[in-house]
Amino acid sequence: MTLTPEQALEQAALAGIHRFAIPTPFAVGRVNCYLIEDEPLTLVDTGPNSGKALDELGARLAERGHAIADLELIVVTHQHIDHLGLVEILAERSGAEVAALGAAARRLAVFEEDAELDDQFAVEIMLRNGIPEDVTVALRSVSRSFRSWGSHVTVTRPLDDGEVLELGDRRLETLHRPGHSPSDTVFWDAERQILIGADHLLPSISSNPLLARPLDDSSRRPQALVTYIESLRKTREMPIEIVLPGHGEPITDHVGLIDSRLAGYDRRKEKLYRLIAERPRNAYELAQALWGNVAVTQAFLTLSEVIGHADLLVNEGRVREADDGSVIRYEAT
Ligand SMILES: [Zn+2]
Repeated sequence: MTLTPEQALEQAALAGIHRFAIPTPFAVGRVNCYLIEDEPLTLVDTGPNSGKALDELGARLAERGHAIADLELIVVTHQHIDHLGLVEILAERSGAEVAALGAAARRLAVFEEDAELDDQFAVEIMLRNGIPEDVTVALRSVSRSFRSWGSHVTVTRPLDDGEVLELGDRRLETLHRPGHSPSDTVFWDAERQILIGADHLLPSISSNPLLARPLDDSSRRPQALVTYIESLRKTREMPIEIVLPGHGEPITDHVGLIDSRLAGYDRRKEKLYRLIAERPRNAYELAQALWGNVAVTQAFLTLSEVIGHADLLVNEGRVREADDGSVIRYEAT
């Protein structure tokens, strides 16, 4: 029998996992942090670096009879600022250990410099795919203005893919599920069939597989959507009862949701193929054909979508990239 989201939250609470929906200044709305009342007292994700988020987190902890100083372990699910902005402040105030995917630790430690490199990477990709320079300049200043909601993070407990995090009362298996971001990590309680999923799988929005620099700093652009679909397929096979996501309500039918996401990618891929078969176009032109003006205001997001789906077509051998040295165009083979 499938649980309702309310029943799922109740069941999680009975297992000692409590959701705190913390405000963010971003369009996505609140971010879900999860308190695990166990030993050590554990917080999964923290919310962005803002006084408002800190106040709310303190208030939610107080409702459960805890203070920030009581936190003993903070777990970071991925590199996005709405999830990790408060980690350093909380760790300083509590002395908590900070656990995250080891492969991401070096990048998390130098957040500010890293964000600058991310922006350079994004600008380069945008220019190579036909986005006008003035649009990239505007986007870069938006990205800079967001940066203060993030923070560097000192990881004291690096985790390997597959490593088990032992708490007093439970075992959480660390699973690397890249795609939405290169560092996406989910935590699996096999005994209770609960997956702490962060943004790997979200109930009401597709987890945008954003183009991003690879964790190992290699210069090759990763195929974010291809990687994401591989990750989704792995999660689909798991006997999960409840996914606790990074935004929105718990997911109790992960197979149905993943299947509908996969079908959606397939539809979009075919739509893109028809546009490319009509005539060769660059990714920016394709984004405008699909989304109109949103391709300008959300240029990087829509570009990530187009390139992600074009990667699928390239891998299938139906489309190829034609590079004239300045801009990449897609054409049907
Ligand atoms: Zn995210």
